[in-house]
Amino acid sequence: MKSLPDHKLKLRPIKVEYLSGSTGDGTAEGNNAAWACECGALLVGRCYFQFGHQCHTTCTSCSRTYRVTADAKKKAATVVEGAA
Ligand SMILES: [Zn+2]
Repeated sequence: MKSLPDHKLKLRPIKVEYLSGSTGDGTAEGNNAAWACECGALLVGRCYFQFGHQCHTTCTSCSRTYRVTADAKKKAATVVEGAA
């Protein structure tokens, strides 16, 4: 049986902008992003949903909201708190 390709995903560092004015470090892969909430919880998000719909992330621990912004190629660019 022929094995399927196994891709090593290309991870990129991205900036996280908190409402407090501080910034943090996140990681992106394609349209996906992972970062730490200001409360410390680990979050994930994406810069667009299927059909081109918008989407946002709400922290399950503290209810802060975040939106992942997209660059011109629709890849995750930054994470912004409170933009949702
Ligand atoms: Zn939180």
